[in-house]
Amino acid sequence: MKDKIFMMLLGIIGTSGLLFYSVVAGAQTAPSPNANFDGLKITLCGTSSPLPAPGRAQACVAVETPDHLYIVDAGSGSAATAQLSGIPLDKLRGILLTHYHSDHISDIGDFNLNSWVAGRPAPLQIIGPEGVERIVEGLNITYELDRGYRVAHHGAELLNPELGVLHSRTIGEEVIVDEDGLRITAFKVSHPPIEPAYGYRLDYGGRSVVISGDSLVTDKIVALSDGADVVLHDAMALQLVQGIEAMSRGAGNTRLATVLHDIQDYHATTANLVRLVAEAEVGQLALYHLVPAPRNAMAIAAFKGGLPDGAIITEDGMVISLPANSKEIMVD
Ligand SMILES: [Zn+2]
Ligand SMILES: [Zn+2]
Repeated sequence: MKDKIFMMLLGIIGTSGLLFYSVVAGAQTAPSPNANFDGLKITLCGTSSPLPAPGRAQACVAVETPDHLYIVDAGSGSAATAQLSGIPLDKLRGILLTHYHSDHISDIGDFNLNSWVAGRPAPLQIIGPEGVERIVEGLNITYELDRGYRVAHHGAELLNPELGVLHSRTIGEEVIVDEDGLRITAFKVSHPPIEPAYGYRLDYGGRSVVISGDSLVTDKIVALSDGADVVLHDAMALQLVQGIEAMSRGAGNTRLATVLHDIQDYHATTANLVRLVAEAEVGQLALYHLVPAPRNAMAIAAFKGGLPDGAIITEDGMVISLPANSKEIMVD
């Protein structure tokens, strides 16, 4: 009951309020609703793409084990969605970036603040391919004044200044984490002209999830997805994007029409996704980074046309649980 009241308060007051609540009530962390769950717990903290959609943040997937929390990408609005979903941010070890398009990085600052307030015991690692050190250097400068205000207001005992500074880690195509039963493998995907762009596979307790980032379906994704319990894949409804392009061109908005035309060659189409499940044994295909995110029943029907049977179109706040050493896949 106490936890429920805390989460309600959290929903009402938000981050700045949380700082106040933390100081007044002595609360250090948001409670984890699934503290005793052993397995991989995947929460969709953002399912949209740069085309805006009400109720959806941009790309973000949280993956939790009893000992770890990693976030894959941090698009606009995703830090708030993560907090409202009750993800235990005090456990956050790192943010894995797939690439540096703005819809994957714009909420890093908020994740850093929220996890610092929640009581994260070590600096937040920002992990990604070449270029991540520039992102982190820029963010640390951008938020330098904010960090100073927070420490001055709440004290260094609550907010250790060293824990507010982001650390960067540049990775290659390799196993990047192998600790306490969790293995994370980074792999190259196809999202031209971005080079390199990565996806990640996380394995724990005999369970696995592959997260594509932004990509066409490639041979490598097919190989890594074979035998995976869950594949979260970028998905574009080509017929919808082409329709909006034609309407934009007809209305004389050639700039928008050009952008909508250009994006058609670097996201997975429904035809690509059919190939994925035909060639790989996938427990559950779940689509995110929806281009465009469907906003009503008609758009959902249009998006689903041509998708492989059983594919899920994810929503913000959706949780997929994979209990350790079982075959069970629970979607809430
Ligand atoms: Zn994107
Ligand atoms: Zn992208």
